[in-house]
Amino acid sequence: MFRKRGKRLVSDPVGACIYCGSNEALTLEHIAPYALGGTFELPRASCKPCAKITAKFEGVVAREMLLEFRTKFKSPTRRPKERPNVLDVKGYFKETPRRITLKPEDHLAAFCLPDLSPPTIRTGRILAKGELHQEMGFWQWPHPSVIDAFSRSLPDTIDRFHIGSVSINAFVRLLAKMAHAFTTAYRGRHGFIPLLLPLILGETNEYARYVGGRSRKAPAPESGDFSFQTYTRMISGYPYVGCEIEIFPLLGAPTYDVIVGHDLKPATVSQQHEVHLFTEP
Ligand SMILES: [Zn+2]
Repeated sequence: MFRKRGKRLVSDPVGACIYCGSNEALTLEHIAPYALGGTFELPRASCKPCAKITAKFEGVVAREMLLEFRTKFKSPTRRPKERPNVLDVKGYFKETPRRITLKPEDHLAAFCLPDLSPPTIRTGRILAKGELHQEMGFWQWPHPSVIDAFSRSLPDTIDRFHIGSVSINAFVRLLAKMAHAFTTAYRGRHGFIPLLLPLILGETNEYARYVGGRSRKAPAPESGDFSFQTYTRMISGYPYVGCEIEIFPLLGAPTYDVIVGHDLKPATVSQQHEVHLFTEP
């Protein structure tokens, strides 16, 4: 269970790596990355080799997908000295790359997130061999009218500019990691049979069976940057544990659905939502 310490929610120490089971040199694990404003902490929950693996894809999401947004809105950073003082707008003029440098507060700080199809375990869809992705859309922030206004404010030496990039592999591994860590904090390490470890640890790139999207809900008005909800649901006659994740729900971002593991409880549950945690705004 979690205890509140200021804005942080701290769980009981786990005492073993939640990814590989090692109990050597355990470190604090954040369910959602600290650099993205995550405030749920699992003490003694990740070994150093696994922390290195998860830090790598978290870094890709934080720096390649969300650097401008984090800089402009001053998300936490462990490396304040490396925080940029200026941000570039990268674009083109008649197909020649151009760059304009702005103060972070003047930058658009746009970003994109993938809008994923539901996990295939739910829909029964079978992907062809070697096919990793289902159809997906991209959600972007801010609203197109804001992007248009920003675009009109740029000097006419730029005729189109780069809004954001998405690394699907890093992003879905981050979703898998957050769902696995949250479920472990809530149920304990032996409270379910995990399904996501090969994806989290980079042993497979296949994610579509267990990681996907779901239709958006109206966000809880008290939601902060992250909201997690665990559930148990029968799929094809077996009970599964899943986790719904909202990132930036107040911005209207996509909602994600991650099947985390097999439930060990008797197979009598139809659907049950168990706990809902969110970061404070
Ligand atoms: Zn480990």
